[in-house]
Amino acid sequence: MGIKRLDVVRTWKELRSLRRSATGTLDEVQTIQMPRLRWMVDHAVRHVGLYRSLFPGDAARRLQHPDDLLRLPFTDRAVCRANPIAELLSSDPPPGSRRISSSGTTGEPSEVLYSPGAAWYQGILALRRDGVRGLRPWDKRCEVTSLREGPRRSGIWELLDRRFMRVPTTRPPALLARDVLALRPVLLAGHGHLLVELGEELDGAFRPRYLVTYGESLDGVTSDALVDLYGQRQLDQYGTAEHGSVAWQCTAADLYHIDHEAVLLEVLDDHGAPVPPGETGEVVLSGLWNPLMPFLRYRIGDIATLADRPCACGYRLPALARIWGRTMDWILDSRGRWVAPQRLWIDHHLERDLVQGVVRRYHVRQDATGAIRVLVLPYRDLPADFANRLQASYRRLLGQDAMIEVVPVADLPLHPSGKFRRFSSELVRSRDAWQSESPATPW
Ligand SMILES: [Zn+2]
Repeated sequence: MGIKRLDVVRTWKELRSLRRSATGTLDEVQTIQMPRLRWMVDHAVRHVGLYRSLFPGDAARRLQHPDDLLRLPFTDRAVCRANPIAELLSSDPPPGSRRISSSGTTGEPSEVLYSPGAAWYQGILALRRDGVRGLRPWDKRCEVTSLREGPRRSGIWELLDRRFMRVPTTRPPALLARDVLALRPVLLAGHGHLLVELGEELDGAFRPRYLVTYGESLDGVTSDALVDLYGQRQLDQYGTAEHGSVAWQCTAADLYHIDHEAVLLEVLDDHGAPVPPGETGEVVLSGLWNPLMPFLRYRIGDIATLADRPCACGYRLPALARIWGRTMDWILDSRGRWVAPQRLWIDHHLERDLVQGVVRRYHVRQDATGAIRVLVLPYRDLPADFANRLQASYRRLLGQDAMIEVVPVADLPLHPSGKFRRFSSELVRSRDAWQSESPATPW
């Protein structure tokens, strides 16, 4: 079985400490955060090439208060990508490390490595989050996910993983529905668009106790469709491959509780100063839990509003009222059916060697006539069969008569949030329902 007593005790202790700190004061949370931050910055400056060249040598010693972070330079995906992976790692990955590949909502395929201890800690954070929501560790869960992970986990997680089904986003809705009906999970999680497709397929045959969304900001149409199909408002979750779990809604479906013990979250104005509660700014994250591949002062490219009141559940620590960005449109196929944008993710349609190291960013645009243009910003010239292969695969999804054009571009401007809208459809936006129900964009 491979489950050690020590493993169980350690997990239980850490979980108990996380439960306690979530009900503590900000001062108490900072007494957990600051030593972890100092340790991680010191470790990164000593052992990770990127931070050795970017941060001052005594950066850790200068960190007495979270505001001292403001003096350290930012990193972001572009900075990380400009470096070979060895410059981002503190050592060779030890045995048991986990490799997380994300096709992600950012349109930039990436890989992140978690040390064994870091992967374990993410598991504890998930247990804490689920516990706050009233789930028990043995409750069955089903997640429709685009994250690809390394080998199955061992130890205590091996037991829990058996109650946990991961289904790839590439699976057609009819098969997803069959999986869900066979498992009858207590919690069903996934991208909002895919859960709508699945809900339509289920047609009321099954409603989980918990519905969880992540990976994008949902427009009003999609949120309302979820309520309609599942009879409940979804609980949203915010995290990234680089930073793991960051913030999530409890069952009050109100504010986003932040995993303060695992990540130092800053919300900054245009001048890089922290915004006051109630204000909106750019999210900057410093991970405190993954020494193998630290991401510090990382501009994730999302915009968030800092809460100015406690959560409806009574949670009083700093929380997020709203997370903006990563909005994606539905796409219409040639017969006028709505297709979830995740179904058009390039790495679901092409082999890995046609995507990794080839596509830097891409954008799918549907114009008012329904024609689709795939704008690709490549690292180098696109392989000869790239366009044909992508067109053929998209046509299998959208209809053989779908108009699809692949256009290599020299520049692909970023969205004001730092994340350009990867999937946009003039055709969908021109519909009345969309315009009246879609939330106003904050920029
Ligand atoms: Zn709450």
